[in-house]
Formats: sequence, C-alpha cells, structure tokens
Amino acid sequence: MPQPKKRHSNSRQGKRRFSNYRVKGKTPGRCTSCGAAVAPHRVCPECGSYKGKVVKPKKEKKAKKEQE
Ligand SMILES: [Zn+2]
Repeated sequence: MPQPKKRHSNSRQGKRRFSNYRVKGKTPGRCTSCGAAVAPHRVCPECGSYKGKVVKPKKEKKAKKEQE
C-alpha cells in the first residue's frame, strides 16, 4: 500500500471536514407562523417566535395598516 509522504496540516484537515459540515443550499428551516427562512433552532427574526410561541415580541418600526 502506498503511504502519504507528508502529514496533512491541521488546517487542511479542518478544511476537509468543514466542507462536509456546511449546509448546502438555502436555509432548511422555515418559520411556522410567518414562513420566513429561519436557521434551525433559532428564534425567527421576523416575528420573534419559536416552536409556534412568541418568545421575543417583534419591534415595530413602521405602523402597520389596520385591516378590518
Ligand atoms: Zn416568523
């Protein structure tokens, strides 16, 4: 069996492993209440909800149009 001539550096080893670690494509998670793209296990930045409950109330910068 051929053997590697030199040891791979720690950074090279890390690069190889990190390429498998990265999530490919778009964010896999979506907010259940507003549907925005949210990273998994994170509170939604749009509506501040997590697992269907509002954890962090949203900051309202603009006044919403009230519809009846
Ligand atoms: Zn949301």
